[in-house]
Amino acid sequence: MARYTGPGCKLCRRAQKKLFLKGTRCMTGKCAILRRNYPPGLKGQETKKVSDYGLQLREKQNAKAIYGVLEGQFRLYFAKAARQKGVTGDNLLILLERRLDNVVFRAGWAESRIQSRQFVRHGHVMVNGKSVNIPSYLVDMDDVVTVKEKSRKLLIGDKVKNPGNKMPIWLKMNNDNASAQVLRLPKREDIEVEINENLIIALYSK
Ligand code: SF4
Repeated sequence: MARYTGPGCKLCRRAQKKLFLKGTRCMTGKCAILRRNYPPGLKGQETKKVSDYGLQLREKQNAKAIYGVLEGQFRLYFAKAARQKGVTGDNLLILLERRLDNVVFRAGWAESRIQSRQFVRHGHVMVNGKSVNIPSYLVDMDDVVTVKEKSRKLLIGDKVKNPGNKMPIWLKMNNDNASAQVLRLPKREDIEVEINENLIIALYSK
């Protein structure tokens, strides 16, 4: 599946907030939001009133940037979320959170979702003992995600990559064999991303 290959910091500047796309760099003074906190482009520094539609569109773009998903796939997630029982907005975020690349990131094995996606694509990750190289693979309850033994030293070393990451309660970590078991599917309250999913639902409901 295709992915966005442009500059990540530009997405943050467009969003006017940190989306934390680049791991440890986001915590340093090199962060573009700290240095140039205005939208990119010639008219970036002009003050503009943003319409409701603009706010909704921006929220969707932010969600896509955070999870590294392009428009077509994001629409598929929305359609799937709408077909499921329960609140569509919650379902949408839960689907995004269940992506394998997100689980690798949440487990603390990668600095960012961009890096975790690469780990999955390069075949370093297994689900239930089988190699899976599809970042959008959706984990299910009781699945066990593991970093392949020969890749552990390269990927993890003797410490997790993003120790600042708060371990989600729906994952049970086993650092001895670099594995994470999905205890249950995530709930909306477990998902700590700054996204107002109601704005996205309003956008797609037009
Ligand atoms: Fe966004 Fe991180 Fe770049 Fe800062 S360093 S602008 S948070 S991607």
